[in-house]
Amino acid sequence: LDLRNEDLREISELGQGNGGSVKKVEHVPTKIIMAKKIVLIDAKPSVRKQILRELQIMHNCHSEHIVSFYGAFVSDPNICICMECMDKGSLDGIYKRVGPIPIDIVGKIATAVLEGLTYLYDVHRIIHRDIKPSNILFNSQGQIKICDFGVSGELINSIADTFVGTSTYMSPERIQGAQYTVKSDVWSLGISLIELALGRFPFSDSGDSDFEDAEGTLSPSRPPSMAVPHSLSAASSGGTTPKSTTTSRKDKRKSMGVSLQGGGMMMSILELLQHIVNEPAPKLTPEDRYPADAREFVDACLLKDPLTRPTPKDLLKYGWVERSRTTELDLKAWADTI
Ligand code: ATP
Ligand code: MG
Repeated sequence: LDLRNEDLREISELGQGNGGSVKKVEHVPTKIIMAKKIVLIDAKPSVRKQILRELQIMHNCHSEHIVSFYGAFVSDPNICICMECMDKGSLDGIYKRVGPIPIDIVGKIATAVLEGLTYLYDVHRIIHRDIKPSNILFNSQGQIKICDFGVSGELINSIADTFVGTSTYMSPERIQGAQYTVKSDVWSLGISLIELALGRFPFSDSGDSDFEDAEGTLSPSRPPSMAVPHSLSAASSGGTTPKSTTTSRKDKRKSMGVSLQGGGMMMSILELLQHIVNEPAPKLTPEDRYPADAREFVDACLLKDPLTRPTPKDLLKYGWVERSRTTELDLKAWADTI
């Protein structure tokens, strides 16, 4: 498929992220509906070409748990990535609309993400690097797929150079500057699963038990999209000094007074990162609300030492995953309700 911007008719906007926006489009010649992600990057033409070359790897990624890829092209000054459109959107949008996701469905999500991650790593040696609810997509056929994985080293570098938008799904070892491994994805998965089950971002500033706000109601404290100070993130980009310390526009707007509204108090990004490194990992609580095998699984994802933390492949053998596979659950019917 030879994709050209002129052949794409814009239908609606699907969402906005730190690095750009995603639009629902029709590829007029074929009538295929696609999601077009526009990535704002500030890079030389040669770097753009390199990015496009690297993105071609996505043509070889075929798994029922990976969003399929139609192609990418340069549309000055941006790069456009066209992929399968998932009509129910991302899981962050879904839980913010309908509230906490039932734990049996979270089990299916965990299984799907692990299968996607295992495929990417075993077949292509790709580490996802950005597992979070907004990168786990759902459709009305009841399928769960992951998107936005780090195929292009050049793209990762370009984005890191222009803005440092980093989320709080980052593992303790990454915050401390260690290399990315598949186990960092596992940590991010653990945080994401708690978020989906609780219907709120799991970190709050006053300890694990303080999930309620002043009124005693469960209020969604959204994960802020924050700019990580360079002192912390530079160490992780292989020792190279990033060229610029500017944050993206969206970051700038949000990061100034960024706070985690837990218990009515504020937690700054630095405090949050310190919290992730120094405090015990969050858990699926209260205990009586979640099955033991689910809690055991999440605890394993959130082992702070990456050496003891399992890989996605190890996790596929966990009891909760095996049980989730055989659980009769009509995801298509659930899709109709959301
Ligand atoms: P960040 O920029 O921090 O990674 P993000 O993942 O939300 O955050 P984008 O990847 O730009 O940012 O995506 C923006 C939104 O567009 C997502 O939250 C999701 O709801 C929607 N979206 C992305 N890809 C698709 C797709 N293939 N099909 C349907 N919706 C999509
Ligand atoms: Mg995304």
